[in-house]
Amino acid sequence: MSAHIIRSIETVILDLPLRRLQRFSAIGARTQSMVLIRILSEDGLEGLGEATTPSGPWWGGESVETIKLMIDKYLAPLLVGQRSFDLAPLMRRMDQIVHGNSFAKAAVEMALLDLIGKACNQPVHVLLGGCTRDRMPSVWPLATGDPAQEIDEAEARLAAGEAYAFKMKMGAVELRRDVERVARVARAISPRAGIRVDPNERWSEIDAQWALPRLAEVGVEMVEQPLPRWNLDGAARLKSSSPITIMLDESIRTSQDMLNVMARGGATLVSLKLMKSGGFRISRAVADIALAGGSSLYMGTFLESSLGTAANMQFCATLDDLPFGGELVGPLLIAEDILEQPAVYRDGALHLSKGVGHGFALDESKVAAFRRDRLYSVSPAAIDADMSTGKMQEAPTPAL
Ligand code: MG
Repeated sequence: MSAHIIRSIETVILDLPLRRLQRFSAIGARTQSMVLIRILSEDGLEGLGEATTPSGPWWGGESVETIKLMIDKYLAPLLVGQRSFDLAPLMRRMDQIVHGNSFAKAAVEMALLDLIGKACNQPVHVLLGGCTRDRMPSVWPLATGDPAQEIDEAEARLAAGEAYAFKMKMGAVELRRDVERVARVARAISPRAGIRVDPNERWSEIDAQWALPRLAEVGVEMVEQPLPRWNLDGAARLKSSSPITIMLDESIRTSQDMLNVMARGGATLVSLKLMKSGGFRISRAVADIALAGGSSLYMGTFLESSLGTAANMQFCATLDDLPFGGELVGPLLIAEDILEQPAVYRDGALHLSKGVGHGFALDESKVAAFRRDRLYSVSPAAIDADMSTGKMQEAPTPAL
């Protein structure tokens, strides 16, 4: 059947402006870049996917540039001419030819699932086992590093009824100053809303032992990945001594990582991310091992656009144990939306998109406006015109 055969794969990098500075432990960002992948079948169906990193390679080693290259040069040739429905063999083949590169593979799998969903006329969550939730309580990120601004931002979100909890990035400044910043925000906001923090691996065990009681004292309810990802024994020691719930993120990417954590006494809370694990199927395996070992789940984010967020929500729809909710908030921080129907946030929750596949319709004008190569692309017609008039074509005005 022609509907199953992959005809072509296209990737394009988009640079989308953020509404405000997002300061991670390693860098600050005002733009969020993503790779849009489009997989076309022989009968004209199109599957869409997105790969997004937290503004560069600092988190996982991949960047939008490496993701595009890896898909174009190594993954796409494995897929063209193959049956899109053969998802597991295709993913296995990709793993045989390309080590790692989970963000690139997750984007391919996301687009294949969109294509399969469209071919079956079903939403992706049906392909994943069915819907157990149609909304996910969503945490709001506070990450400018300026406590006065962060309190104002939190108050505005609370007044609008759009947040029930906040997550503060830590690790960009000296620890004592950082804890004082969080304490100032927590004293202003807690207990009206929960405060969680994420130092993104920046602490030593000594730092954590000093900071955790002080953060507990001001009402912080959860700390994400305080220690470097490799320090699983340190994480186990903190889990048993911490007055605050500890969540692991960077430490757990694969099912083998999850098993290694389980062998050391497990994790209280595990952050799931499609990109870090290489897609839906491995994320599901991580989730199942976590649940089997008594851990609870959390839905993390790399600040995906509405497209990647809708796909993440398809996965999230199959999870029934999310005591701390999740943070699929990319569309709220990205100033331009590339979908015709933006993500729906209501009453502090992200809602599941309706429709087949991941349930999104691309706004092609936004793709054209924000694609990175827009300044350099010249259509054949324009080249012909230039040849006939001898004039140089003016560069298009940047949309940013
Ligand atoms: Mg994290």
